[in-house]
Amino acid sequence: MPGCTHEGEYRAPKSRDNLRDYFWFCLDHVRAYNATWDFYKGMSSSQIEAHMRSDVIWQRPTWPLGRLGRGAVDDEAIVDRLDILGAAGFRRGTRPPAESAPSALRDPLHTLGLPWPVSLDDVKTRYKALAKVHHPDANGGDRAAEERLKTINLAYAALRAHFVGGTAMAAP
Ligand SMILES: [Zn+2]
Repeated sequence: MPGCTHEGEYRAPKSRDNLRDYFWFCLDHVRAYNATWDFYKGMSSSQIEAHMRSDVIWQRPTWPLGRLGRGAVDDEAIVDRLDILGAAGFRRGTRPPAESAPSALRDPLHTLGLPWPVSLDDVKTRYKALAKVHHPDANGGDRAAEERLKTINLAYAALRAHFVGGTAMAAP
């Protein structure tokens, strides 16, 4: 600040368009500068509102959950005979689990796309991934997604019961 003899130890941005270029002030002058500095100077009220709204999401573009700017991927429309996606943990597998699985667990294993034998940790990991993908909130409240999630929940409950005991019908 012209005429000030104190050391400039405190920084303040020069303008809204250049927030990384600073003035350096003493403590008293940086306080005075900040008190009068109006970030929204010269903007209309709708511009100010738009700016505050986009600040909430860090000035980045957004899309509805699960859409990535396009329609959600239709699981049934993907032909993956070698189950490459299933093996990589992306979607329900198409191969039946090994014959050695207890008969009551074969359907649940198939629903979650898991091999046999399997660990409880693997079951939990796969369940969490599938529950996220098929959650109705991630599919625009889609009824079919809700049904798929119910099936997935039941399959998870059955497998979990096998490992930790309890009733297979309990919600996860
Ligand atoms: Zn000063």
